[in-house]
Amino acid sequence: MLSLHQISKRYGAIQALNDVSFSVPQGSVFGVLGPNGSGKTTLLGIIMDVLKANAGTYSWFGLPPHEDQRKRIGSLLETPNFYHYYSAARNLQITAAIKGRGADDIERVLKLTELWERRDSKFSTFSLGMKQRLAIANALLGGPEVLLLDEPTNGLDPAGIAEIRELIRKLGQEGTTVIMASHLLDEVEKVCTHVAILKKGVLLTSGHVDEVLAAEDMIEMGANDL
Ligand code: ATP
Repeated sequence: MLSLHQISKRYGAIQALNDVSFSVPQGSVFGVLGPNGSGKTTLLGIIMDVLKANAGTYSWFGLPPHEDQRKRIGSLLETPNFYHYYSAARNLQITAAIKGRGADDIERVLKLTELWERRDSKFSTFSLGMKQRLAIANALLGGPEVLLLDEPTNGLDPAGIAEIRELIRKLGQEGTTVIMASHLLDEVEKVCTHVAILKKGVLLTSGHVDEVLAAEDMIEMGANDL
């Protein structure tokens, strides 16, 4: 699905990523785990072609990066600007029109995110968790094969956090590959099938979540203070 090969990124004197290589299997819920400043957002920016790496290469779907691939990737790296006084469905219609999608696709994503019953409610009446679910619904319009999320539960209340984690698990079960940055070890344990752990821009380890998090050398690698 996605392969990174020796990606490095500097901001002046700061080495944000240093020789990072890993692969994201198709159908995985893949956590990019690391403390603040470890390079997670930089990494997502590079694979979305928003930032240029100083060194290294990556490929999506086994192909070098290309504009056409953008249609196959949904992203929440930039939060959509929803209109507060429009309904959920009306807000989605705006993105659907841009992407050339119809009412059936809007219905699909509203049902997937369990917002169908609330489709005619104004965005301003939504809880934080519902707003985030609508943002995910918006990113899922057009049926992307992979969804990119940066700290998707940040700033949410406990109910919202539970809703979003449940939704991410469901998306994975239904076959969407999800790549999500998180600084929360327990979130990755609960939600992800695979993980790559970054610390100060260096990849400590990556692989299946059960194997990586069970490894005895996790503490030696310094992952205890994530
Ligand atoms: P956070 O969760 O705090 O966003 P992160 O793991 O996503 O952390 P990055 O935001 O990718 O990490 O930052 C990695 C390093 O690069 C940090 O030291 C950060 O200060 C630095 N950095 C990020 N963006 C810039 C920038 N535009 N200019 C200079 N330094 C930057």
